[in-house]
Amino acid sequence: MEYIPGDTVPVSGVYRVEHDWHRLMHEATLLVDTRFPRCKQCKDAVRFHLVRSIQNSHVVPFRRIHVFLEEYSDPEPPLAAAI
Ligand SMILES: [Zn+2]
Repeated sequence: MEYIPGDTVPVSGVYRVEHDWHRLMHEATLLVDTRFPRCKQCKDAVRFHLVRSIQNSHVVPFRRIHVFLEEYSDPEPPLAAAI
């Protein structure tokens, strides 16, 4: 199963993060019911694969867990972007 930025994280766990052009690969811990982040460099081209789920609720929050990732936010409407 492959996930893309903006998808809802189905289960807390460690995910392998595969980037596009800069070819970097690493892992990130993501929490259930949050959204998969996008990459600061390859944006929505980044893909996520579940490596292992985590039952422990004391999971390190995603925030600032990796320099290349940023929290997903919905695209701004064209009008807002034009201002
Ligand atoms: Zn990337």
